Amino acid sequence: MKVLVVDDSKPIFMMVSQMLEELGHQAVWAENGQDAIEKINENADFELVLLDWNMPVMDGLEFLVKNGTESFCPAPIVMMTTENKPEKIQEALKNGAVDYIMKPFTADILENKIEMVCD
Ligand SMILES: [Mg+2]
Repeated sequence: MKVLVVDDSKPIFMMVSQMLEELGHQAVWAENGQDAIEKINENADFELVLLDWNMPVMDGLEFLVKNGTESFCPAPIVMMTTENKPEKIQEALKNGAVDYIMKPFTADILENKIEMVCD
């Protein structure tokens, strides 16, 4: 499936992209929330969005909040975060993320998460 990876760090995108390819998926990069909206408008067939929290221009939470009112993203959104505070995670879930994944993660963890979210 096609996965949109939204992260301002290119090295992180490259790492996640490689994991996804090994799992048989295709990764597309967006550098921030605004870029993600543009990528979604160009490609309606993403089946999953992996969303970083801290990014310039439009961060992950802003993307979630905007999607909450405008519903431009039909795919499930999984937050990728270094935030391990429960209230932060709750905030993402409350605003429409279906799940979250703690950075750094392994290909096994990513595979499990994809199976849980995309079934
Ligand atoms: Mg970041």
